[in-house]
Amino acid sequence: MEKDKRKIVRTTAWSPGCGSHGGCGFKLEIENGKLVKVEGDECHPWNQGRVCAKGLALTQYVHHPDRVRHPLKRVGARGENKWQQITWEEAFDICEKKLKEIREKYGAESVIFAQGTGRDIGGPITYLCYAYGSPNWVQIGLAGHSCYTPRQGAMFVTNGNYTMADCSQFLEKRYEDPQWVRPNVIINWAQNPINGCFDGFYGHWIVDCMKRGSKLIVIDPRVTWLASRAEIHLQNRPGTDGAIALGMLHVIINEGLYDKEFVDKWCNGFDKLKERVQQYPPEKMAAIAWIKTEDLIRAARLYAQSKPSAIHWGVPIDGNPQGTVVAQAIAHLWSITGNIDIPGGNVIAKAAFGVTTYPFTSQEMADLYGEEMVKKLNELRIGCDRYPMIKGFRGWVQPDVLLEQLETGKPYKVHGAWIQTSNPIGGQAADPKRHLAALQDLDFIVVVDTFHNPTSVALADIFLPAAALSEKESFRNWWWPLTNMVKAVDSGDTKSDWEINLEMANRLTTGPIRFKTVKDLIDDRLKPAGITYDELAKRGSWYAPKDGSSVPYYRYETGMLRRDGKPGFDTPSGKVELYATRYEEWGLDPLPYFVEASESPVSTPELWAKYPLIFASGRRVPVFFHAEHRMIPWLREIVPDPVIEINPQTAKDLGIEDGEWVLAENNHGSAKFKALLTPTAHPKIVSVGHGWWIPEAKPETPGLFDNWEHNCNQLVPMGTQSKSGFGGGAYKTSLCRVVKIGAKDSK
Ligand code: SF4
Repeated sequence: MEKDKRKIVRTTAWSPGCGSHGGCGFKLEIENGKLVKVEGDECHPWNQGRVCAKGLALTQYVHHPDRVRHPLKRVGARGENKWQQITWEEAFDICEKKLKEIREKYGAESVIFAQGTGRDIGGPITYLCYAYGSPNWVQIGLAGHSCYTPRQGAMFVTNGNYTMADCSQFLEKRYEDPQWVRPNVIINWAQNPINGCFDGFYGHWIVDCMKRGSKLIVIDPRVTWLASRAEIHLQNRPGTDGAIALGMLHVIINEGLYDKEFVDKWCNGFDKLKERVQQYPPEKMAAIAWIKTEDLIRAARLYAQSKPSAIHWGVPIDGNPQGTVVAQAIAHLWSITGNIDIPGGNVIAKAAFGVTTYPFTSQEMADLYGEEMVKKLNELRIGCDRYPMIKGFRGWVQPDVLLEQLETGKPYKVHGAWIQTSNPIGGQAADPKRHLAALQDLDFIVVVDTFHNPTSVALADIFLPAAALSEKESFRNWWWPLTNMVKAVDSGDTKSDWEINLEMANRLTTGPIRFKTVKDLIDDRLKPAGITYDELAKRGSWYAPKDGSSVPYYRYETGMLRRDGKPGFDTPSGKVELYATRYEEWGLDPLPYFVEASESPVSTPELWAKYPLIFASGRRVPVFFHAEHRMIPWLREIVPDPVIEINPQTAKDLGIEDGEWVLAENNHGSAKFKALLTPTAHPKIVSVGHGWWIPEAKPETPGLFDNWEHNCNQLVPMGTQSKSGFGGGAYKTSLCRVVKIGAKDSK
């Protein structure tokens, strides 16, 4: 690295550091080899110069004194937090020896490869997992795999591709592009995008559309900033998004507000859908959702009669009981109104130039590795035998089945885990105590991360220190544009996830070694774009296609969506499948329906009498990304404590005052929070942020950085997954009661 010089480096965010999936273009100011300032890149069309607080605080993340900067080997018992510094060569040798031993004795499938929300880790971890020969790529403890994949899967079966609310994000000139039309109405459904940039979508895009005249319908149990500015706010009970979608479909179909021409030409199964939704009249659905019938009807009419209209949605959709079915019902709203792949509607999202960081779907995996390998992996992948959607759509392990398998050793025992930039015990896993007990039995565990956390202290045998954003070469192509990450500061003795995994893959593979360097590998992935990693960096770190299948609109008319090049959608029938033949093939109901959560005021009234509040976890704040960032001073200063939002009247009835510490508890567990009284909370719903552990607290067991004090996932059970295996995690729908600390009576 060059020293004693001040320079600006353009790069992209999608990695531990600032954290999120946003993919902001950055200008990094480097002085004397140190990152001294971060600004948004005003030339980057995706974020147009904006960055959030996490991006601005990247300087404190990168140079934080608590970063782990050398490989470590555990020398005490697991959880004692006793480590010995070793060299990379020693660390790689130990990992190679142990992983080869396990493979020889028990088979490659007995090692799981775990990531968290991933970001650019998806490429390196799948590369290593499949080179080793394991089929078991997993997000440990993500109950029902309830994050993004259920929505993605539902769109795969209905639309053939993922779609996003069109805020001009796939056009280089953005709002100025003459092709773009602003949505007349945007439904912002079950997400507060202002507080984050989930799923590669920015809240400020919605605000930009509002400034240009878009009206809002917000469906959210909380009164968010967007909800307070909406034409209609449906403040629904968590877990009832499916009821609202079915009620809206009932109104739109029965009142003839759908796009008949589009439905006739491009959709299948309309009559069957029409028949099905007769079971879901708006009066019944509104009562289920705790909203007014007239508001539900108004929302359906406003959306259908305002074309172009768009829907933006969030993770709580996935956690609905039967999340894939709820997502299907919502996708039908944009499909039957003809709001798909039109300017200002829901535009189909395709990776720029067709470049992918890793095989996202089973089809891409087959393209990359061949059908035979996919078939072989599916024979042993955990959960595949129970859930055909895992084979047919995406090759993840089913996390609830994994927990059962860890505990029972059936049908085969898991012996090792490679956990990369993931903190299941302190963040992702529901029922984290059960997970800790199950994982503690494994023979060998590697953790790759930037800081110690509850998972690394409790479980790691070897800790490999990962480079953060701005310290590594990597790339991002989550839809658009194609971007890369540039190494701008020295990372000391850390290595990028790509470097670590390529080295391990080359040591462990039973096949030929294809790439010697990370750049070789990335250049290979970039081939469809006709550009190399270095050329991309020279272009300012991003590159957008001018034509081709990743450029919107009306691609179903021009044959740009199907593999055979024919007009239509990328589904078995070539149409939007209102009647999902792929669901049918997998033994699932091909039409949408509504079910209650396994625990709810309706399905378990006896529990509701004991625990009379709905416990909605996972409320986002702009300064943290999941379980990260609690050690970053600028960010922690803004949100110093784990908070529970309670309606003031509810709090008064419970004798709780603002700022008091309280305990939320239920039949699964409990956690401690500071009460924040706010009228934006529904009187019957409390909401908490997730991923809380306290970096300044004692790391060793039993406390694990006060993880057991504050980890909200202790109130969330495993085993509530949807029939498809995707969706249904009760992160938003558990029941609870809230008591003052000291006034606790949990009997
Ligand atoms: S965390 Fe902030 S700066 Fe980083 S990608 Fe997301 S929005 Fe951009």
